Parts: sequence; structure tokens; C-alpha cells
Amino acid sequence: MDNEGKLTNNEDLRIDEENKQETVSKNFIEQMIEKDIKEGRCTTVMTRFPPEPNGYLHIGHAKSIILNYGLAMKYGGKFNLRFDDTNPTKEKTEFVESIIEDVKWIGGNFEDRLFFASNYFDQMYEGAVKLIKKGKAYVCDLTPDQIREYRGTLTEPGKNSPYRDRTVEENLKLFEDMKNGVYADGAKVLRAKIDMTSPNINMRDPILYRIARMSHHNTGDTWCIYPMYDFAHPIEDAIEGITHSICTLEFEDHRPLYDWVVTELEYENPPKQIEFAKLYLTNVITGKRYIKKLVEDGIVDGWDDPRLVSISALRRRGFTPESIKMFMDLCGISKSQSSVDYSMLEYCIREDLKLKQPRIMAVLDPIKLIITNYPQDQIEYVDVINNQENEEMGERKVPFCRELYIDREDFMITPPKKYFRLFPGNEVRLMHAYFVTCTDYITDETGKVTEVHCTYDPETRSGSGFTGRKVKGTIHWVAAPTAKKAEVRLYENIVDEEKGVYNEDGSLNLNPNSLTILKECYIEPSIKNAKAYDSFQFLRHGYFCVDAKDSEEEHLVFNRIVSLKSSYKPV
Ligand code: ATP
Ligand code: MG
Repeated sequence: MDNEGKLTNNEDLRIDEENKQETVSKNFIEQMIEKDIKEGRCTTVMTRFPPEPNGYLHIGHAKSIILNYGLAMKYGGKFNLRFDDTNPTKEKTEFVESIIEDVKWIGGNFEDRLFFASNYFDQMYEGAVKLIKKGKAYVCDLTPDQIREYRGTLTEPGKNSPYRDRTVEENLKLFEDMKNGVYADGAKVLRAKIDMTSPNINMRDPILYRIARMSHHNTGDTWCIYPMYDFAHPIEDAIEGITHSICTLEFEDHRPLYDWVVTELEYENPPKQIEFAKLYLTNVITGKRYIKKLVEDGIVDGWDDPRLVSISALRRRGFTPESIKMFMDLCGISKSQSSVDYSMLEYCIREDLKLKQPRIMAVLDPIKLIITNYPQDQIEYVDVINNQENEEMGERKVPFCRELYIDREDFMITPPKKYFRLFPGNEVRLMHAYFVTCTDYITDETGKVTEVHCTYDPETRSGSGFTGRKVKGTIHWVAAPTAKKAEVRLYENIVDEEKGVYNEDGSLNLNPNSLTILKECYIEPSIKNAKAYDSFQFLRHGYFCVDAKDSEEEHLVFNRIVSLKSSYKPV
């Protein structure tokens, strides 16, 4: 977001090397809008996000929200959230609430502009009647199979329905009877009268209304006929005064029909449909069918499992709206289909949290470190800067004492070359504290190291100006008596990165290591007031977020958002 709180969607700031002038390059949608404004086709820009309430929103929907909201703000217009709930089979009220929450969280501020397409059923019916009166729509009795047969193919034209030439009066009567429940489900449909020989199959007398006795979550049993998407959507847009109806590429071939509907219904300032390419991410699952199966099979813990990319899952994992916005800006808006690497999203969350969140010490796989020459029962406090890259975040005091925890990977009995961490005889710096030298270690009957012993040099306290000698390794630690115990969950891609998302039989290629649960982690006491969604950098480990579902004061649970290593290089 910029200083005025507006989303400057996809403004790609480039420095023109020749004359050192800053130019802002506009995406193709912005160029079209500016042309429309310049040529007087519109004065403001009204957009909408029109989800079907049949599932949870995912990262692809976030792209559409950010794009539509951003355009409305950029050109001083309004942004609507509209539930496209004209199809009663799939809709569920439970999704309405989650969608509202997700749209708000991602920054699509629709204020009081919340609409339901089903509130326009009367206008849609009137629209259909108008088309009949103009001789542009007719009631057809062909069966679904016959309709398909009459439609023709990509290479062959269709043929006219024998019911195409019914009179206006007959059509009006039949359509009214359809509405009044005189006919069985599927017995008749209302079709547009366009052109059965059109090269565009969508224009071969498409169905506008069908009979279906289904209860609707909003209108109950008021209707037994329901409009088809291609007829309903342009009407919804026109009623709301949408100027630019932005959708994804699969609707490109439907645009002539969209235009036909708004033209024949004689809307004064008809909306214009513009298509862009869907966002695809590598190695993630967005299909509702697959996610539903993962939930049912107990492979994931609900639609907000942090390994998924639904908006609620990303929020629970610890992604921020700012990081997702940054990601969409980097992806840009285009007309050609491509998929974006997940590591780019990880890059964005690292960038966003880098200067905002404190960096603290946490030990994920603990072994005890005992400083044998440090006084028993003494605790001292060392000063630690909260964020090395942002001094404004200040300092904190961290307890230090004789018994600490260090991470298992920071100690080795027989180290390989270039291992500069702890091993017998070696000296390292304990981050923010003292130099220690390893004197001994203890193992259990299996040979697993249970304790490391060392001595410290009181002269070497961090910040004391000690310059006597240098050490090559610095490791983090946590004082044992004051540490907060926590559970930490590490995530990898839910599907196997190497082998791709789908198997040959269409099943998912699951990664068996997508979740690792560490039950005994120790974190410095500054963590104690952490609440749901708070995030931290655990030094040398990555960024972690308090899990909103399972974390409790007495049983802290953290999700690893992302490690510190990046495979993505910004251009
Ligand atoms: P899905 O089947 O993945 O849930 P959908 O297109 O059926 O997607 P809708 O509720 O119909 O979901 O979509 C609402 C809006 O979000 C539409 O305008 C649609 O074009 C847009 N949208 C859906 N998926 C993506 C995506 N991957 N990238 C960008 N926009 C998307
Ligand atoms: Mg859909």
C-alpha cells in the first residue's frame, strides 16, 4: 500500500536509463481503462469481486481481489463484493462468512458495498421477458441431448431448433408457465435467439433459464427457474454500475455473449468485460475437489491447514496481506497463462517481516549446555538488539546462566572440515554473551549426546570491547530455567516437488514429509505474551508465527512460515 493507504496495483517503477526519468509502466487493463476515461466512455471505475459461495478463497482469488480493489482505488471509484449465488446447487451459507473475512483481511475494503446476485432475480426475469418481447429469446422443448446435437461442433455449424420460431405471445405464456411451476425440471429452457451458425459456439442460441426445483439459500422456494451464468453475470454488473468487469481468460470466448446481453437489454452505460490470466503457483493445490479429499482423508487439518494456499491457510501460516500484495505486484497482470514459483511468495514474506518483527533465540532440537565454571544459581541479563537491521525496534534483556539449551546441530563429536561450531576443544561465541570452550560431553546408552560441558571466559562478554582473540563460530542458545517450552511445526510442500503435483492416474503425489512436529523446543522468555498470528524471526532458523487454532498460553504452538534460505532471486 502507498502512503494514502491505496493499493497501487502492479505499478512497475522503472528507471529509464537514458534520461534517468522515472516512468510508471501500466498494465494492459490500466491502459484500457485510461483510454475509456480519455474517450469519455466512463468517468469513474467501478469494479467487483464476484465469488460463488461454494468454497474457501485461495491465493488465485486474492489476485482478483487485489486487482479489482486496486483499480477502483487508483481511479477514484468503488469496489463491490458480490456473491454470485445464482446457482443453488453448490452454494452454502457457511462460505459467505469465510469469504467476507478473507476479502477484508486481504485488503479488499468493500465498506457497505456487499451484494448478492440472487437479490436481482426479479430484474433478471424482467430482462428475459424483454428479450422475448424483442423476439430475441424463445422457449425450447428439445431435450439436453438434442440441444447438444443441434449445437454442432467447432467445425460444423449448428441447426435451428424446431421451436425457434414460436411467436412472442406463445413464448411469453410458456416462460410464465415455466416460472409458475407448470413444467417438470428440465422439460423446457429459455434460449437466446442469436445465430446457430456462429463460429463461436457460445453464440449458438445459448440457454438463458432452466427449470430446477431447488431451494435457494436466499430466496428459498420462490423460484423454480434459475438464470444461467452467462445471462446473469452481465445483468448483475449492469445493475451495480460496474464499468469494468474483470474476469479470467476462460471467459474470453463468452465476451460476445456478455456484450449481446447488455446491448439487447439496452443498458445505458454497459459494463465491459476484460480478461486476464489466472494465477497458478507451482507445487500447491488449489482445486476444491482435491482439498476436500485431503480434509476428508485427514491428511490436512481443515481448509486452513498451513500447508494449503487458501487465504485462511496463508493467514494461519503467518503470511501477511502486505506480503501477498507484494507478491501480486511482482507477478504482474498478463494475458498469457504461466505459473509462478512458490519461492517467490516466500521471498515476499521474508521481505515483509524482515524489518518489522523481533529476532529472538529459539532452540528447536535441544541439548543441554553446562558452563562448568559459571556460578550455580546466578542469572545475569545480556542486552540484545531486537532487530539488527532496524535499530528503531530497540533492545531487550535476555537471561543468561549456567545451564543453557543449544541446538543439536551446533555440536559434533567429530566435526567435518570447516565446521566452526562446538566440538571438543573448540571455542565459539554464544550469541550476545560469552566465548565458551567445549571441555566434555555426555552420551546415553545409544550414543546420543545428552549434555555438552564447557567453560566460559568472563573477559569476552559481548559489548565489553574485548579484542583479545577471535572465534569463527557463533551459536544461539536459551537459558534453561527461564525458557518457554513450545511446539514447533515445520512445513514442506504438500506435494512432491520433484515428481510434480499429480500422478498418472490423477491422484495427488503427496510428500510424506510435509509436516514435522517438534514437541520440545525452547524459546527465550520474551516470547511469553505472544498471541495468535504474532510472528518472529527465530535467529538462524526462519520466521515463525503463533498458530491461531492450537496455540494456548500454557502450550505455545508455532508454525514455520518460511526458512531464512532463499532460492528465489529478485530481478
Ligand atoms: P476455483 O474453481 O478455483 O474456486 P472459480 O473461478 O470457480 O475458482 P469463483 O468463485 O467463480 O471461483 O471466482 C471468483 C473470481 O475469482 C472470479 O472473477 C475468478 O475469475 C477469479 N479467480 C478464480 N481463480 C483465480 C486465479 N487462479 N487467478 C486469478 N483470479 C481467479
Ligand atoms: Mg467457480
